[in-house]
Amino acid sequence: MLDQQALVQLSTIKGISAFYTDKTDCLVYGYDNSKNLVLPDAVIFPTTHEQVVNIVAICYQFSIPITARGRGTATTGAAVPVRSGLVMSLEKMNKVISFEADNRLITVQPGITNQAVQDLIKNKGFFWPPDPSSSEFCSVGGNLSCNSAGPRAVKYGTTRDHVLGLTFVTGEGKTIKTGAKTTKSVVGYDFTRLIIGAEGSLGIITEATLKLLPLPETKLTAKIFFSSIQQATQAIKKIMAQPVIPCALEFIDKHAIDMIRDYSDVDLPNNAGALIMLELDGDQTAILSQANKLETIINDSGCVSINWAKTEIEINDIWKTRKALSPALRKIAPKKINEDVVVPVANIPTLLNGIEQLSERYQIAIVNFGHAGNGNIHVNLLTDPDDESKLSKAYQCLDELFDLVLKLDGTLSGEHGIGLEKMKHVKKELDDNYISLMKAVKLQFDPKLILNPGKQDY
Ligand SMILES: Cc1cc2nc3c(=O)[nH]c(=O)nc-3n(C[C@H](O)[C@H](O)[C@H](O)COP(=O)(O)OP(=O)(O)OC[C@H]3O[C@@H](n4cnc5c(N)ncnc54)[C@H](O)[C@@H]3O)c2cc1C
Repeated sequence: MLDQQALVQLSTIKGISAFYTDKTDCLVYGYDNSKNLVLPDAVIFPTTHEQVVNIVAICYQFSIPITARGRGTATTGAAVPVRSGLVMSLEKMNKVISFEADNRLITVQPGITNQAVQDLIKNKGFFWPPDPSSSEFCSVGGNLSCNSAGPRAVKYGTTRDHVLGLTFVTGEGKTIKTGAKTTKSVVGYDFTRLIIGAEGSLGIITEATLKLLPLPETKLTAKIFFSSIQQATQAIKKIMAQPVIPCALEFIDKHAIDMIRDYSDVDLPNNAGALIMLELDGDQTAILSQANKLETIINDSGCVSINWAKTEIEINDIWKTRKALSPALRKIAPKKINEDVVVPVANIPTLLNGIEQLSERYQIAIVNFGHAGNGNIHVNLLTDPDDESKLSKAYQCLDELFDLVLKLDGTLSGEHGIGLEKMKHVKKELDDNYISLMKAVKLQFDPKLILNPGKQDY
């Protein structure tokens, strides 16, 4: 329950779009795509930076936990208000503040969706590289706070590589502006990169200046089938070891292919052991010779077939295969455990072999796909969490998976982040010195520990 005085002060802030205290209204702001649920005491919808400052100052005074929220699509529980208190939904802060073509930037409020930004800048000849498959629904603030990414990361990097500066509010209600409108700046510590990926635990982002890139002239996309995972992973290693960088290099294993065939209208060959989807972007003349070079490498790795798509319809058709995967998985195992581990590209074959062995030993079906060019594999354990014995077996399997990933010089999460779901595993990756420095940093940004409490807290 919020302090009565705090409630009055919060509800009378001028200009807020809405303030909910009724349980039914608050309910949908208590969960995200992780399916964890904790009911907040209240939900507030600011529309300006000044209102955010005001809200945080009140929460600081009354020691009220605040969980910032974009669109609640996080898969880890990052947006779940585990200590109740106030959810601050940034969804009404969805304005474009300025677009500057010559400076290749756009400044936006955090609640705007990724897709809205892409649509707006596409007409002006630009794109913003972060491309999570949730782009239509997720907010830029969420993308920043989770350092989200998608297929394009293999060529362009993640969100962290495409932000010039931020305005954010600390846990004491102080306003901090970071970065510059320039692509070069070395003044002071780089708080921009620190806030990105912090899951709302160090500050509430109220403005972001995003670095834009010109749209490539054209794209060429290939669907490449292999008879075995080994051949596909060898091809991935060879592609990454030469100079042509694809703007997508996605991998789908045999189990996933079978599932797409069985549960969608996508036509896939029966003998397919693995599938790679590769995309090139660039100018019209260069792209054809790049495609030829890659085709030679891919043929040498023993591919069964390679089909290039050139028109938008053909390209969309190829991506339809990848898009059919999530609905198929949802049908088969609606409560599957989905991890997004990463290993160096050279270690993907060892990782996939290890996963196969875990699957046999624990008798759990495991489906793998993902952004192979980054070594970022989505490992899906098809288990039933409602069955306690199956769940405990799945967690043991997961524990071994994480050990394997770290042994292979990898990391526990490539894009989904830690949230609640991976908290207990973080100490496998970060040592005591690292964690105590994180705690010290947290105290400087949020002395009363009110910002998204219970997250990034190991
Ligand atoms: C179908 C589906 C597909 C997905 N595909 C991908 C994918 O391809 N790649 C990928 O990386 N992720 C993916 N995700 C995960 C998710 O969409 C991303 O993490 C996304 O960036 C979250 O944005 P959001 O607006 O929903 O944030 P929320 O879920 O609302 O919040 C996420 C975190 O950000 C914090 N936060 C939000 N706004 C702010 C702010 N203004 N200031 C400070 N902290 C803030 C929250 O406190 C929370 O910790 C997918 C999710 C779904 C459901």
